[in-house]
Amino acid sequence: MIAFVLLPIPGTTGFDYRVPEGMEVRPGDWVKVPFGKRVLLGIVQEIRERPEYPGELQNVLRPLGPALPPRFLPFLRRASDEACTSLGMTIAHVIPKPVTAKSRSPSLPFAYTEPEKSVELTPEQVIAVKTATEALGKGQKFLLFGPPASGKTEVYLAIARNVLKCGQEALFLEPEISLLPQLWARAGRALPSSPAVYHGELPPGERFRIWTQAMNGEIQCALGTRSAVFLPFQKLGVIVVDEEGEPGYKEERAPHYHARLLAERRAEEGALLVLGSAAPAVETFFRAEQGEIRLLRLSHRVAGQGPEVKAVKKEPQEVIGPELRQAIARHLAKGGQVLLFLNRLGYFTGASCRRCGEILRCPDCEVALVFHLAERTFRCPACGRNFPDPTCRKCGGTRFHLFGAGTERVEHGAKKLFPKARVARLDEETARDRDRILSALAKRELDIVVGAQMIGKGLDFPGITLVGIIDADQLLAMPTFYAAERTFQLVLSAIGRAGRGPKPGEVLVQTNMADHYAIACAIRQDYQSFYQEELKFRKILRYPPFSRLVRILASGKRAETQAEKIAGIIRDAGLEVLGPAKLHPLRGEPRFQVLVRGGNDLPILVQKILQRIPQNVRVEPDPLWLG
Ligand SMILES: [Zn+2]
Ligand SMILES: [Zn+2]
Repeated sequence: MIAFVLLPIPGTTGFDYRVPEGMEVRPGDWVKVPFGKRVLLGIVQEIRERPEYPGELQNVLRPLGPALPPRFLPFLRRASDEACTSLGMTIAHVIPKPVTAKSRSPSLPFAYTEPEKSVELTPEQVIAVKTATEALGKGQKFLLFGPPASGKTEVYLAIARNVLKCGQEALFLEPEISLLPQLWARAGRALPSSPAVYHGELPPGERFRIWTQAMNGEIQCALGTRSAVFLPFQKLGVIVVDEEGEPGYKEERAPHYHARLLAERRAEEGALLVLGSAAPAVETFFRAEQGEIRLLRLSHRVAGQGPEVKAVKKEPQEVIGPELRQAIARHLAKGGQVLLFLNRLGYFTGASCRRCGEILRCPDCEVALVFHLAERTFRCPACGRNFPDPTCRKCGGTRFHLFGAGTERVEHGAKKLFPKARVARLDEETARDRDRILSALAKRELDIVVGAQMIGKGLDFPGITLVGIIDADQLLAMPTFYAAERTFQLVLSAIGRAGRGPKPGEVLVQTNMADHYAIACAIRQDYQSFYQEELKFRKILRYPPFSRLVRILASGKRAETQAEKIAGIIRDAGLEVLGPAKLHPLRGEPRFQVLVRGGNDLPILVQKILQRIPQNVRVEPDPLWLG
């Protein structure tokens, strides 16, 4: 007997191995096999009578039990094609390896408790639940669209309850790990049993245990981050993708899959898909308008009253301007908690030479250096290298004019302005302390939290009454055509954070571009108008939803030639190519980017055209960042 085994080798389909007499191996099993001088872990795709490979075959060394149900393979193959990678690579990255679990679930990033309150659905919520439930088993797709605090979670949970009643399984996805505890707490109350938790920070043994339980039908419900979309449930009734417009659903490393897209693929096998958002991706809303996705609307808030939102002037010298300062004082005096949002790290985000005006940059990456006060050093945000005593590369000067603000400077400013307040900072640098900071925030042991990206999303802390967005203009300057959409989403999610409790909330947006449609519409909480404007822009420039993009990134000494060669091959195949464009180098390595634009099948076409992709070339479908 021959086992055709998928291995984590780029650009291959699989290899034949002989199954020794007496060894039991089935499709979907993990096996250890020799490969060159190494021993690799692979998954059996099929068992054949005769080998396809004409040469001498090696033996399977050891079977290690089931990895996935064999009927799950076509889905994984499609996911690989759409991520422009081989099935073997996808399997190596998304399927947990067989190891024994040391801990027992649930493994949540931090403890979250919520007062018990009886939940009665509003008539709108009842209609949404009924409509979705009636579509059970038909593979229908829904977009649950409602403003912040309109009770989307209660709708998800009611749908899941109905699904579980029918003996089917339910899967919930969140874009960020920090959102899991809250959903888990609510699901535990609303569903017959607490769901399993699955995310990338679980210990390997725990991941493998949850995976196996899902495969064996031992758990009926799970919630997790993007990798949970692969959980091998066999009777999946519903997949909920909460905050569907968030970039956290996209895997930034290979295989570059998008969990929302994969959730759709799984739904096509019969499960119900429920996407939820207050600020849907323009692509999603466009498809809802086209009738590909059914729209379910929730029109008003159910928790607390909406916060008062306004734009205030951004002062060049003061990170926390006078109006925001007064508001913070007012809210702290009333016992409210304050969230200050800025998605830039460091203290000063730029420095220029006092003598000649030259901007201080990393010599390897050409990126402006950021000053970090705690470590008293300049650091390159691209490669992480430290420069404690930099000199101007133009004139040799050693004195610099420092400007710009990062989270560290906001934290510092808040402490100085409000010395009695308990202030914490939550960003990549303090991520180790995330659980502690979020728990302290929930227990009201903190007064002011300064946060980068991760804290501006779906969390529900009723003590927060004021949210300040430090620099909305900087959001608009992000290097992507999604900049306006991201700005709208971030401002709107800030609005969702304020005043979820009984006290009225307030949101201040520091900006000098208050007339920009992304900011103006977000302040009015007017998604429809934002969508119309943004769609015009996308149409003129032929960006998604009017096209699909694949980004090809070559790096290293031969990057330019390689990028040109690849651009040529793709152009010759008749596809539209933009570039190659030179990007800033990384750690001294030149980088060149080629963008390919096409229709729905673009990733699969590009994968076919390129076939063998060199090691230092990255192919990424549906890029969120261009630069
Ligand atoms: Zn100089
Ligand atoms: Zn650098």
